[in-house]
Amino acid sequence: MLVKIEEIRDTGLQVKKEMSLESLEAALEGSSFRPLEPLAVSASLRKVSGGVLLEGRFTSRVVAECKRCLTESKLELPVSFTLNLVPESLARGEGLVDEDEEDEEKKDKGTGESGGSFALDDADAEVFDGKVIDLEPIVREQVLLALPMNTVCREECKGLCMKCGQNLNDKACGCDMTFVDPRLAALKNIKLKG
Ligand SMILES: [Zn+2]
Ligand SMILES: [Zn+2]
Repeated sequence: MLVKIEEIRDTGLQVKKEMSLESLEAALEGSSFRPLEPLAVSASLRKVSGGVLLEGRFTSRVVAECKRCLTESKLELPVSFTLNLVPESLARGEGLVDEDEEDEEKKDKGTGESGGSFALDDADAEVFDGKVIDLEPIVREQVLLALPMNTVCREECKGLCMKCGQNLNDKACGCDMTFVDPRLAALKNIKLKG
């Protein structure tokens, strides 16, 4: 997923790149997510003030187990991102890579509000060698950032019955749910000394 700087004209460059299923699987290894198909990435690159402004978008389709009912569900995660790519020489010379600032910008990312006005200074910065931009590690990071913390098949998922394991989304099981955890019951009988 390489883009050469010399390919970027004054009017910018639009590219479509694909991340293979294998690369995605490697990226998601160790997570509870599994990719369903290769990733089609649309990217737009523009030369700006010595660097390159990269805007990318893709929809990541993955499968994950619902945390409540344990059924596999498909997730569609639309992602769009903007990065300011700074050539190594410039980054070193002007100290553009300010760690504190970068941390703060990362926090803002979770809001998913990337539309509307955009100031160059607000974009996350990434350093490259000045000649070739490899989109693969950038996209891989974006794929990981887009994964939800809690996967549920749907907001109102009822989960499984704690007693019989019935998927309560399918039907009610009729179990008596006035269930007391035996450990808690034992605690009730402990008299506090004092
Ligand atoms: Zn569920
Ligand atoms: Zn039950």
